[in-house]
Amino acid sequence: MKCITIVGGGATGNILASLLSKYDTSVIDRDTIEEKNIGRQILFTKQDIGKPKAHVLQEKLKIKGVCADLDYENIDLLKSDLVIDCTDNMETRFLINEYCKKNNIPWIYTGVIRDIGRVMPITTNYCFNCIFKEVKGLETCETSGVNLGIVHMTTGLAFQIAEKILQGNKEEGLYTLDLNKIEKINVNNNPNCKVCNGEYDYLKGKKDKIIKFCGSRNYQFKGDFDFHVLRRRLNEKDLGGFFQHENITVFHNRVLIKAESEEQAKKIFTEIIGN
Ligand SMILES: [Zn+2]
Repeated sequence: MKCITIVGGGATGNILASLLSKYDTSVIDRDTIEEKNIGRQILFTKQDIGKPKAHVLQEKLKIKGVCADLDYENIDLLKSDLVIDCTDNMETRFLINEYCKKNNIPWIYTGVIRDIGRVMPITTNYCFNCIFKEVKGLETCETSGVNLGIVHMTTGLAFQIAEKILQGNKEEGLYTLDLNKIEKINVNNNPNCKVCNGEYDYLKGKKDKIIKFCGSRNYQFKGDFDFHVLRRRLNEKDLGGFFQHENITVFHNRVLIKAESEEQAKKIFTEIIGN
């Protein structure tokens, strides 16, 4: 059976994971479910608030859910016949791109901002880095919101393309969708593209220690935590590789803190987790 890895279990990840659940599908997601996700991320209900998205998708769709923050160290999680990007994060896309290019794995970029969707299969001689450059301060779903109709159209198109790739076809082009039309432009290889020339900066690894997740109030702190000591100190139960304490979710190598600002998140981190 064909093996698919979906990165990101938000609005697009929810739908694509359902559409592709007949395959050997895994979803990798690092975040927990918040009240504001309910409705936009169709498989999540009020009872799921606070749980890791990956675990809830695993339960509901009988697929594999991996609650992890994809980075250069655990990047082999992507090893499969097809990778689908459902993140809202450019850095992760560049990382996926390098891994897939290096290992010759077809992948599909999907993105939705406001009422515009994008889908780009990467199966031939061009890559994501041939077209997109990493720019800080890009508009994200957090500042602009997403239109649910566009989410459905984008995931529907990505699903059709995914099935063709799984049947062995090469798929090409960059699709842009709005509520009225789908446009496809041809994409060419950029001869100066570093990734196509075998330079893999993201796979070598460099990342901010604290990041804020798009569309949520979760701040993530990475590092090696003494999980069991911390869990006993806070008197909490192991919920399967993670535990929760008030607004904090602790994993073995990262901590998610729900807060109104980075300053507040740092304060909570210092007070409860320590340094
Ligand atoms: Zn390239």
